Amino acid sequence: MRFQAAKSNFFANANFGTRCLVREMRVWFYYLGALFSIMIPAIVAAEKPFSFKDTPGKLPKDVVPTDYSIRIVPKIDKFTFTGTETVKLEVRSPVHQLVLNALELQVTEASLDGKPLPTSAMKIDMEKELLTLTLPSELAPGDHTLALSFSGKINQQGQGLFYMRYQEQGSGATKVMLGTQFEATDARRFFPCWDEPVFRARFQLIAVVPKNWLAVSNMPIESEKTIAEGKEVRFAATPPMSSYLNVFVAGELDLIEARSGSTQVRVIATKDKAELGRYALEATAQILQYYNDYFGAAYPLPKLDQIALPGGFGGAMENWGGITYYESALLFDPKNSSIETKQNIYEVIAHEVAHMWFGDLVTMAWWDNLWLNEGFASWMGTKCTAHFNPQWEVWLRRNLPRDPTRRIGIAKEQAMEGDARSTTHPIQQHIATEAEANSAFDDITYKKGQSFLRMLESFLGEDVFRDGIRSYIAAHKYSNTTTADLWNALSEASKKPVAEIAAGWTEQPGFPVVTVKREQNGKVRLTQERFAVNFKNAPPLEWKIPLTYSVIGQAPATLLMTGKTEVLENIPADRALKLNVKGAGNYRVEYDESSWNLLLQALPKLGVEDRVNLLSDAWALVQADRAPVSLYFGLVEKLPASTDIAEREQIINVLVFINGLLAGSPEQEQFQHYARSLLRPTFEMVGWEPRKEELATVANLRASSISALGDLNDPEIIAGCRERLKKYLANPASLTPDLRPAVFTVVSRYADEKTWTKLHQFGLKTTSIEEKQNYYNALACASDPKLVKKTLAIALTDELPTSRATHLVPRVARDSGHPDIAWDFARTNMKALLAKVDAAGANRYAPSLFTFFSDDSRANELKTYAKNNLPPASGSEVAKVVDEVQFRSEFKKRLVTHLNTWLDHHSAAASARERPPWPADH
Ligand SMILES: [Zn+2]
Repeated sequence: MRFQAAKSNFFANANFGTRCLVREMRVWFYYLGALFSIMIPAIVAAEKPFSFKDTPGKLPKDVVPTDYSIRIVPKIDKFTFTGTETVKLEVRSPVHQLVLNALELQVTEASLDGKPLPTSAMKIDMEKELLTLTLPSELAPGDHTLALSFSGKINQQGQGLFYMRYQEQGSGATKVMLGTQFEATDARRFFPCWDEPVFRARFQLIAVVPKNWLAVSNMPIESEKTIAEGKEVRFAATPPMSSYLNVFVAGELDLIEARSGSTQVRVIATKDKAELGRYALEATAQILQYYNDYFGAAYPLPKLDQIALPGGFGGAMENWGGITYYESALLFDPKNSSIETKQNIYEVIAHEVAHMWFGDLVTMAWWDNLWLNEGFASWMGTKCTAHFNPQWEVWLRRNLPRDPTRRIGIAKEQAMEGDARSTTHPIQQHIATEAEANSAFDDITYKKGQSFLRMLESFLGEDVFRDGIRSYIAAHKYSNTTTADLWNALSEASKKPVAEIAAGWTEQPGFPVVTVKREQNGKVRLTQERFAVNFKNAPPLEWKIPLTYSVIGQAPATLLMTGKTEVLENIPADRALKLNVKGAGNYRVEYDESSWNLLLQALPKLGVEDRVNLLSDAWALVQADRAPVSLYFGLVEKLPASTDIAEREQIINVLVFINGLLAGSPEQEQFQHYARSLLRPTFEMVGWEPRKEELATVANLRASSISALGDLNDPEIIAGCRERLKKYLANPASLTPDLRPAVFTVVSRYADEKTWTKLHQFGLKTTSIEEKQNYYNALACASDPKLVKKTLAIALTDELPTSRATHLVPRVARDSGHPDIAWDFARTNMKALLAKVDAAGANRYAPSLFTFFSDDSRANELKTYAKNNLPPASGSEVAKVVDEVQFRSEFKKRLVTHLNTWLDHHSAAASARERPPWPADH
C-alpha cells in the first residue's frame, strides 16, 4: 500500500511491530504450555502454494465476479454520491444467496439476470461489512448478471471516496477535488464488490464530473460526452485485478506527459502545479525501463499516471496505472525543494512503480502475505534507487530516521528494534478482520521483509535471484500467490532450499544475535540465540543464518549456520574478524573482548558499511542490557574523523535519542556538552555554506548536524540559525532549500511568541505543500508550553490537509519535549481528531501519542484509557506502546548510571590530555 510514510509515520523512534500472534505455536504452546508449564519449541508450519479455494477470507468462493461496470455520480456540494453497477458473475456451484462486501452504502435496488429482487432480500451486516442477497430460488452454475443501485458519502478523511480542500496555486482560491483510497478494505465504500484481493476482475468505471474537471482512473478514457449534470467520462476496462487497486481522481487538474517505451507516462497535479512534476516524470520513465528489464515482463497497461493529491492521506498508493501520492512525495521545485525531498520522491516512486508488478500484476492472495507486496516493493525500490543514485548511499542510511517524513534508506535498524521486543510478530501473520489487515502495514511487513530479501539476494547471488523473480512473475501474472510460490521460484533458480532457510525468518518472530568467542588453535566458536530487548524469558528460537564473515584484509566467506553453534577454523589469533560483512544480514553480532579490541584497532581498514554495522550492533547491545554504554561511546571515540553520512547519522540519531530521554533531568546538560564535543568536528568539516559541486550527502549531513547541534543547545548554532532565518524571511533565495527545515526547527525550538507567530504567518501564506510543511514542522518543535498549546490548537483548524493536521499532535509530542501537553490536548479533542484520521491510522492514533513518555505510570494510564475508550482492534498497538514506555523508563535509569561513569572517566581523561605531562619550563 501506500509507502510507509502514510502508515506508521506518526513517529520516528517509535517501535512498531504489531500483534503478538505467535502463529507457529498457536495451538501447542497455549494448550500444552498452560497444562504443563513447559516450553514447546516452535513448530513451523510450511505454507502451501496459492489455491483460490483455500485462500482465507469471509466471502464464499462459489460465486466469482469477472466484470464490473460501475457508474458514479458525485454530488460535490452535498458530499454524497449515487451509483449503479452491473457485475458479471461466474457461479461455480448452486447457491441460494450472493454474499459480497458493502460499507456505509445504501443499496436501493438489486436485480439478477434482469429480474428485480425485493428489498426484503437485501441485508447489510454493518459489523461484518457484508451485503447478502437472498435469492428466490437456487441459482444454477453458469454465467449470471447482478445489477445494483446504491448511494454513499464522500469522506473528509482519505478513506473510500474522499474530498480535498486546497488553496489553488497562484490565485490562492479555495477549491475542492475528489480522490479515492481503497487499500486495504475500502473499495466497498465506493461500490458493492467482492472486496478481497483474490477476487480479481475487470473493472470499467464511468463517472460524471463538472465540465471543466479532469477525471483520472486506472485506464485511459475511452469516451466522453456532455450531459445535463456535466460530462460523463467512460474509462477503458482494466485487466483482471484486485478491487483495492481501483482509483478515481477528479478536479481542476493539469498534467505533463512523456513516453517511456510504449507507455504513456503523465504527472497530474492541481492547476499550475504540474510542471513541478518534471523531476517525477523523468524519474518514472527511468524506473519503468529498469523494471521492464528486471522483471522480464513489460509494464502491461497503456499508461501510467502519477497523481499528486493536496491532502487526504500522507503517503502513496499503488493503484494500477494511476498511482496517488501526497503532493510533497511527488512534486519537486528545483528552486525551493531540498535534496531530502528529491531523494524521498525518487524512492517513493521506485517503491510504488515496483508494485505495478509486485502487488498489481501478481497480488498476494490474502493479507497474511502483505509482506510479499510491501517487503518486496521496499527492497526493489531501494535497489533501483541505489542503482541510479549511488551517491545517495541509500542502503547505508538505514539507521533510525529522526524525521518520520524522510524515508530514505531502508531503516533496517528501526525494524530490528521493534522485532527485538515481546510485541513483535512474524513477517507472515494471521489476519482475520479488516482492522487487522489495516494494522498489518507496519515496520515488520515493510522493513524486515526488505532486509530479509536483501540478505537472501546476497546469499543466492544477484543474477540467480533475478532469474527466480522473472520466472515467478511469468508463472503468476494476472493471478495471486502465497510466499510459498516465491520460494519455489527462487529454489528452482538457485537449486537451494530457499523455503527451508526462509521459514525461520518469515514464519517466526524476532532474529538472532551471534556471539563470537575465540578459542585455542585458531578456532572461533559462534553461538546463536534470540536477540531480545525489554523481553525477559523470550521463547528461545533458532534460525538458518546465511552468515558472511571476513578476516580483515582477506576476501569475505559465507556459511549457512544451521544449528545452535558453529566453529570457524584457522582464524589467526592476532587478526580482526568481522561477521555480517557490510551489514547486509538481519542479525546482531556480539564479540568477546579480544575480538572487539582487534576490531577497534582495525577500524581505519574497515569500510563505512562495516563501521556503521559495528555502531548499530554496539548500540543495540546497550539497549538490550548486554553491554554498558561505554561499549558504544568507546567505539565512537575511536572512529577516524569522517563525513561519511551513514556513520555520522547513526551517531547523531543515538545522541538525539539520549538527549530526548534525558529531557528535563539534571544529567542533560553534562550530556549535551559531551554530545556537542562529538558532533562539532563533523560540523566544522562541512560548515554552514554549501560548496560548489559537493556531494548530495554532504548537504544531507550539514542539515542533520545543524539540526542535532541545535537540539543539543549549541549557542553558536542557535544564533547562526536565527540570523539565517531573519535573512530568509527578507529574501528567500538567501537560504539553500536543503537547510530550511533544520534552520526553521532550531529557531522554533527556542522561539518566543513573536517568532512563533511570524513562522505561523508564513506557513499560512504559502501554497507550496513542502514549504508549508517546513513551517508547521518547525512550529511543532517550539518548547515554550504556551506555544506548545498554540501549535496543538492548529490541529483542529482547516489550515492543513486532514492527514497533516492530525499528524501535528504526535509531532508535538515528539519534538516539543512536552508529550504530556500533547496528550492532554488529544484526550480532550479525540473525537474531532479521529474524524480526520484514515482507516490505517485510527487504531494507532491514541496509543501513538504515548510513545514519547519515559515514565512507567504512563504505561498504566494508556492501558486504562484503552480499556475504556479503544476498540479491541487497537490491542496490538496499545501493547507495543506500553512496551516502549516501559523500555524507555527502564533504559533511562540504566543510561543515567552508565553515562555518569562514562562522562566522569571521560572528563578525567580529557583534563589529563590537556595538562602537559611535565611542569612547564618557565
Ligand atoms: Zn507499498
